[in-house]
Amino acid sequence: MIFDPLYLMLLAPALILSIWAQAKVKRSYAKYAKVPSSTGLTGAEIAQRILDNNGLHEVKIERVGGMLGDHYDPSKRVLRLSPDVFAGRSVAAAGIAAHECGHALQHKAAYGPLVLRQTMAPAAIWGSNLSWILILAGLFLNLTGLTWVGIGLFSVAVLFSLVTLPVEFDASKRAKEILPSLGLVGPRDRDGVAAVLNAAAMTYVAAAATAVLQLLYFLMRANSRN
Ligand SMILES: [Zn+2]
Repeated sequence: MIFDPLYLMLLAPALILSIWAQAKVKRSYAKYAKVPSSTGLTGAEIAQRILDNNGLHEVKIERVGGMLGDHYDPSKRVLRLSPDVFAGRSVAAAGIAAHECGHALQHKAAYGPLVLRQTMAPAAIWGSNLSWILILAGLFLNLTGLTWVGIGLFSVAVLFSLVTLPVEFDASKRAKEILPSLGLVGPRDRDGVAAVLNAAAMTYVAAAATAVLQLLYFLMRANSRN
């Protein structure tokens, strides 16, 4: 399938967007991880203040290994920050810590897209792996029914990547508002925070575009067999 010109042609724009977005994230993170924030607070301190200010005393902050492995775990109510964000006093650390707090705030507010994403997550992860096997087996063995079951499963994964978009954009929007309002960054830090968070958002757009185009490809291939 990798050698199918139709696949390459369809997926090329998404592939280019993905490569561009990844490079942009790395570049803006590298740049603003070196810029000290004007308040001198670490990412963990910033996160603690945001959580405290919103009455989220039960949410714990943990340090995790790996670069850019930062995330909020809604099931365990834990905010996990990578070493450079946890202990870093940079503009990048401030932005990422506040973004993850944004997810904790969404959880508290039962923000619709987050609830939907959480509900879909097990099926989406399970479905995205199994769907490829079913679709490819269906196409190669000429079993139309099997292909369509696979496409159905893959659609769940596509929907999941689309629901991720409002969740991520909203968390960054909350971060950009809450950081200056609580005095956790200075006016000169704002552009850096926005640059880091906007670059990260583009990677989710690229992932969603890839998933949509893959679905389109599967639909075209399945239809051409009928
Ligand atoms: Zn996020």
